[in-house]
Amino acid sequence: MLEKKMEGINTDEVIEEFEALTKDAGMVQRETLERILEENGSAEYLQNLGLNGRTDPESFKSCVPLVTHKDLEAYIYRIADGDPSPILTGKPIPNMSLSSGTTQGRRKLVPFNDELMENTLQIYRTSFAFRNREFPLEKGKSLQFVYSSTPGKTKGGLGAGTATTNLFRNSKYKNGMKAIQFQCCSPDEVIFGPDFHQSLYCHLLCGLLFREEIQFVFSTFAHSIVLAFRTFEQVWQELCDDIRDGELSSRVTAPSVRMAMSKLLKPSPELADLIYKKCSGLSNWYGLIPELFPNAKYIYGIMTGSMEPYLKKLRHYAGELPLMSADYGTSEGWIAANVNPKLPPELATFAVLPNIGYFEFIPLNNDAERLYMDPKPVGLTEVKIGEDYEIIVTTFAGLYRYRLGDVVRVAGFHNSTPELKFVCRRNLILSINIDKNTEKDLQLSVEEAGKLLAEEKLEIIDFSSLVDLSTDPGHYVIFLEITGEPSEEVLKECCDCLDRSFIDAGYVSSRKVKTIGPLELRVVWRGTFQKILEHYLGLGTVVSQFKTPRCVGPMNSKVQQILCNNVAKTYFSTAF
Ligand code: AMP
Repeated sequence: MLEKKMEGINTDEVIEEFEALTKDAGMVQRETLERILEENGSAEYLQNLGLNGRTDPESFKSCVPLVTHKDLEAYIYRIADGDPSPILTGKPIPNMSLSSGTTQGRRKLVPFNDELMENTLQIYRTSFAFRNREFPLEKGKSLQFVYSSTPGKTKGGLGAGTATTNLFRNSKYKNGMKAIQFQCCSPDEVIFGPDFHQSLYCHLLCGLLFREEIQFVFSTFAHSIVLAFRTFEQVWQELCDDIRDGELSSRVTAPSVRMAMSKLLKPSPELADLIYKKCSGLSNWYGLIPELFPNAKYIYGIMTGSMEPYLKKLRHYAGELPLMSADYGTSEGWIAANVNPKLPPELATFAVLPNIGYFEFIPLNNDAERLYMDPKPVGLTEVKIGEDYEIIVTTFAGLYRYRLGDVVRVAGFHNSTPELKFVCRRNLILSINIDKNTEKDLQLSVEEAGKLLAEEKLEIIDFSSLVDLSTDPGHYVIFLEITGEPSEEVLKECCDCLDRSFIDAGYVSSRKVKTIGPLELRVVWRGTFQKILEHYLGLGTVVSQFKTPRCVGPMNSKVQQILCNNVAKTYFSTAF
């Protein structure tokens, strides 16, 4: 029997706390809004809106407009540039987070403060408690594919890094992570290493050195886990050599990383032989993760939304090991925790923590509102099961009625707080005229084409899309990177299948009357999506934060260029 109390955290207590908090989520929301507005009442932004000290939801909604990041940019830049006056928050903002920029092509700066840090720990603690009740961990370490960017400074001297970098560098975070057994088997020098390829190699090496102790495998987004084990397939023999000789490969050049790794490495021919034997015995790498890490209990990371396309490959590496989807949050702030860890990622839901922010929801099930007009948000406890909403957040870090741009579906309630299913990003829409296809629609269409390829034992490595309006009529372009060499025939079938699988009535009718042209499939060379990743790393995004842009708008010209310059084959649909 495992102790419930581990290093300072009592999982039963955390669960009880969460149950109490969600009993009357409506009341907790009112109190939370009151706290946010009291703490930040002196901020210029709120002062200008004429709240005059009122903290009730009705006054808040009537005085404070719904905003997007663009509306707040001028305020955020003043803070970043060093204006010390209370602009968005009462207390000064110590750090800025940089969003990944993978959806818009441009990284957004958003405020980060101690309260967001506390929210992060609360979310992690909560989902850990539920997870550990179902899948208890023993003492040990975890293999984490995490990477930290070198934090920069804004013009005004504030720390500026990715949200995860802001976490990794915070001492409270380290202690909090210890309490939930989130100790990474790799030394800090690897996490903070200057080159992600070298860090990835060393994470793998550390995982192997501590293989018996590894309790779970983690990355913020599932993409990084798949990338790590795809890399493993390429470098496993080199890793075995390093272990055998106790010498780090010359591919790792960063002195800090080499130094840290030299403290862990010593010649271990037996371990090298064992790993060699295990890898050689696998069939097409199926079940690689449990084979390498015999005591791992699960694989953990965000696996929902734009990560779903990687699940198939992840399951292949995971064999029988459960996949557990991590919580729902953004650089702007956290939203909800996965308190039903037994659900497979496709069904994962996230229960909103009613004390970490004030949440509103724009109903999307009626057409006028779908078109962005006159949104009428409802409160956290007013949402209805089965309906879709765009989520609006008010945070402790100075964002008020801020449109995150995410679409969620209410799957149910945990006590009185909703359990959300992540649907897609609202702005990721393929649209030419009356057609509307979301990221999810694109994913489903690509999944259908993937089935045709699977019959030939081929896989889709990654995909993206754009709307090409340079032709008349305009048409959808889907980019696929595929393993192996599919035949012409299969690729033609895939192209037709992609076109047919967009079942949105606006698309189908437009295709029939030819106001949308035949869908174009562009197969790109192997390594193209790696180039896109490298491009984002060049902009300062870290791998842990990276999400492949699924629809590349004109704002994202560099990614468009990478995709278009790497096309190996092109096909046009004959489906209509
Ligand atoms: P970033 O702003 O770069 O931190 O990315 C945040 C975005 O990642 C969110 O707005 C979501 O679109 C996506 N995201 C975060 N958590 C999840 C999750 N659990 N499931 C699906 N998508 C998520």
